[in-house]
Amino acid sequence: MSDNDTLQRFMFEATPVRGEVVHLDATWQAILARHDYPSLVRNILGEAMAAAILLAATLKLHGRLVIQIQGSGPISLLVVECKNAHELRGLAHWENLPEHGDLVSLVGNGTLSITLEPDDEKDRYQSIVELKGQSLADALMGYLQQSEQLDTYLWLAADAGRAAGLLLQKLPASGEFEDHDAWGRIIHLSSTITHQELLKVNQLELLHRLYNEENVRVFDPLPVCFRCSCSHDRVTNMLRTLGPDEVQDILQEQGKVSVACEFCNQKYEFDSVDVEELFASSIRSSTSETRH
Ligand SMILES: [Zn+2]
Repeated sequence: MSDNDTLQRFMFEATPVRGEVVHLDATWQAILARHDYPSLVRNILGEAMAAAILLAATLKLHGRLVIQIQGSGPISLLVVECKNAHELRGLAHWENLPEHGDLVSLVGNGTLSITLEPDDEKDRYQSIVELKGQSLADALMGYLQQSEQLDTYLWLAADAGRAAGLLLQKLPASGEFEDHDAWGRIIHLSSTITHQELLKVNQLELLHRLYNEENVRVFDPLPVCFRCSCSHDRVTNMLRTLGPDEVQDILQEQGKVSVACEFCNQKYEFDSVDVEELFASSIRSSTSETRH
């Protein structure tokens, strides 16, 4: 059975430890088809995508989860977004990239932030920490420990074909669990995993290889996909906030207003008639509002 573009949740019976393993395939190819990333940038972006879906799934978040890295080094920006725990998009900016380098040398002095935006928008939450660690998995584990006090282990890998990740999380201790050594033992068993295993081995086979002496229960696999949340309406609203003068200037200069989404490269074009319409309807709606 194919486990492409699948998130597999599992837990250890009678043990306060749960986990998830994810493979991104067509989802990952959709990102790579839209931008040509050098392999160093590509692999960190893929790892961030895998991490975003793993974290969104642990939170069972309805809404947006955004992981953002910003820095002064060759990779100045990396953003991934996971919506409704199964839709992913992402992008990265870079220049003057060296041939090799760990995370901190590529990003330089930088920050790592995670933003949670539930659909009801009441509890928007963002936490920012200094970026530390040789790999993205190190940086995220540091973040989770520091700002969430969560015992979480992450293994991440990406190449041209796939992005993948494994997450283990220790649940709050409670009386019903008697196996107090489980966390240390399971981390120890997991620490043998290689990037190649994470990328190449079928998820259930991987769980069997790592935990064959443990009692693992797996849940139904969940699908993952690429989807960009840009839309004609969003671009229209963005142009309205720029205001008629600025948009008319662009129109004069370029003959049309063309906006490309940075995540998916979708182009949105507005000619002079569209621009008239854009501001005519915004004036109409604002006058109708003032009548109330
Ligand atoms: Zn888009």
